[in-house]
Order: sequence, then structure tokens, then C-alpha cells
Amino acid sequence: MSEVKKIAVIAGDGIGPEVVGEALKVLKKTEELFGYQFETEHGLFGGIAIDEKGTPLPQETLDICKSADAVLLGAVGGPKWDNNPKELRPETGLLGIRKALGLFSNIRPATVFDCLKEASTLKPEVLEGTDLIVVRELTGGIYFGEKFRREGANGQEAVDTCVYNVQEVERIVRQAFEIAMTRSKRLASVDKANVLETSRLWREVVNRIAPEYPEVELEHVLVDNCAMQLLRRPSSFDVIVTENMFGDILSDEAAMLTGSIGMLSSASLGEGSFGLYEPVHGSAPDIAGQGISNPIATILSVALMFRLTFGYAEAADSIEKAVKEVLDAGHRTSDIAVDKSKAVSTTQMGDLIIAAMKK
Ligand code: NAD
Repeated sequence: MSEVKKIAVIAGDGIGPEVVGEALKVLKKTEELFGYQFETEHGLFGGIAIDEKGTPLPQETLDICKSADAVLLGAVGGPKWDNNPKELRPETGLLGIRKALGLFSNIRPATVFDCLKEASTLKPEVLEGTDLIVVRELTGGIYFGEKFRREGANGQEAVDTCVYNVQEVERIVRQAFEIAMTRSKRLASVDKANVLETSRLWREVVNRIAPEYPEVELEHVLVDNCAMQLLRRPSSFDVIVTENMFGDILSDEAAMLTGSIGMLSSASLGEGSFGLYEPVHGSAPDIAGQGISNPIATILSVALMFRLTFGYAEAADSIEKAVKEVLDAGHRTSDIAVDKSKAVSTTQMGDLIIAAMKK
């Protein structure tokens, strides 16, 4: 028997509880198949926490997360809380939880499933073989630099400053090299070193760390070129690492290669192996409670947790292969179904994936 891993489970609002419920079934199945042991503890977060505890991120939820090895999050938010003051909005809790847990990178895989290639706006032959990960720095750069307005010679000016220090760059670059080592060992570091000083520092740090990972093939790509190449030859990328704002834009671009928000998993990582795992999508209030949401993004987030936090690669493979097999067999939730009348429900999709999981 393996050691017990603690997972904080935060279902959240809208479709959050539905999709997390299916992910928990997958977790249980991996216990049966591989002999792993998981201890789950549930916490309130988002709109439901505002309703029940008067705050989007109660201290007891943070405590549950901090004492866990990993966090599985559904989604938060909804129209009920949209007009609340800022401190009582679910989204405020999202920023708060990342900060409180020291999460400094966001990991977003973009894998194109052959049978869903038609759902993308790109030509199927361009997408062939696309399987990449964007590693985005989350705590520095222009989003967090000093901001102010001033009177200039031609009227009012606005200033946003972009700051990175060596330590911030080092920790994310190391993480990206480590992730590349678990995949096909190719890393693209994206910057704008031809014009930005922060990018020149970024590149220096990447070049200094690269010799520690001689097996990883490194390329430096300028951000504008990367934006183009993602559309022209996405399959040439494996791991992309970049700073906060470039990563914000490129990860959304990469996400759209796959064509469906209901399929996209993500992780936010801190020091060591701790991570928070969640689907990229929100709480989808328009379909909440109907039992039709796609649980695959959340299920694939569990696979990502196995890979990045627990090092359970065979269980991650088992989940990913099961998802592929179920899709190849033609099963679809309504968001990805061509013929919606044949779509399966959220729980049916979860059951199909569990049934397809093998050791
Ligand atoms: P959304 O991702 O919730 O929904 C966008 C569209 O995609 C909707 O039509 C929805 O039905 C569909 N969709 C999303 N996930 C799906 C799934 N798993 N299966 C099937 N269809 C799916 O984005 P939104 O509508 O802009 O936001 C709704 C709420 O979610 C807002 O309150 C927003 O603030 C919040 N939100 C939360 C997070 C998070 O918790 N991390 C992220 C984004 C948005």
C-alpha cells in the first residue's frame, strides 16, 4: 500500500459540484486499480461560502488546503453574487487562495484529441499531434508592477511597470525544465528580449539554468513569433515557459487549439510538489443543475495532479487513455456533441471513463 495522500476538495458553485463529483469517482477507481490511498477533505469556497460563512474564502478552507498535498477545485461564481461589493465576490477568493497558498505558476496543457479535431477552428492537418503545456509565471511582471497616472506634456499619461527579479524567474524556469524532463524534453522559453530588459534578464537566467538539464532541447522564441507558430505548427511545441502577461495571452490562444472549454485542465503550482488543480472553465451558471456539463476538464485535472504532484504517471496515463477511448467510441456530452440528441449526461460520461480505466 502507498502512503495516504491528502486532497482538499473544493467543489464551489454552479457546475463545480457536478464535475468534481465525477472526478472523485475517478480518484476512487485509481485507488482500486493501483492501490493508492487518498484522504479527501471538503471545504467551502466562492459563492456558497459567501452564503454560508459570509466570506468567499473562509480561514477553515485555507487551513484544509494548507494541510493537504494537493487541492482539487471545481469553479466559483455566478449571477447571484455578481453585484456584490469586491470583498464579497467569489472571484476575489480566487486571487486570495492563489496568494495564500504561494502558487507562482499556472500550467495549462493543450492536447488535441484526434476525434475532436473538427471542433477546432484550425485545419485538422495543422492540429495533428498537438500536445503541449504552457507554463505561465503568475506573481510578477506588469500585472503586479507599480501603476500610476501623471500629467505629461501632452496631457494625462498612464504608467504600468514591469518588474522581475532573478529568484522569480529561476523558480519557474526550473519548474518548466522539470516538467519538460517528464515529457518529450523540449522547452521553448518565450520572451521579448529584443526590446524588454525584463526579457533579457529572463533569457540570461534560462541560459544559466539550461546546462543543469543537458537532455532538454531549449529554444528561445520571441513572443510575437510564438503567437504565430502556435497557429502555424502547434505540434512543434512541447513545454512553453513564459512570464505573466505573455503567458496569459498565449495560454488562451493555446487553449483554443483544442476547440472546447469543457476539456481543458489546469494546475497552479507552488514550491515543492504542492499544487491546485482545476478545470479552465468557470461555473457555467447557464447549464448548472441540468446534469449536462462536461466533467472531462476536471477529470483530466486529476490526471495532471497525479503527474505533477504525486508522480503517479501510470494512473495519469490510465485516466488519459480512458478519456481518449471513450471519445473515440463516439460518446460526447452536449457541449462537444454534433448530434445533441445523442449526448450523454455528466454522470454517464464519468461512468464511461471509469469503466474504460485499466491498470
Ligand atoms: P464559463 O466557463 O463558466 O462558461 C462559458 C460557456 O462555456 C458557457 O456557455 C458554459 O455553459 C460553457 N461551459 C463551461 N464549462 C463547461 C462544461 N464543463 N461543460 C459544458 N459546457 C461548459 O464562463 P463564464 O460564463 O464567463 O463565467 C461564469 C461564471 O464562472 C462567472 O461567475 C465567472 O466569474 C466564473 N468563472 C470562474 C472561474 C473559476 O472558478 N476559476 C473561471 C472562469 C469564470
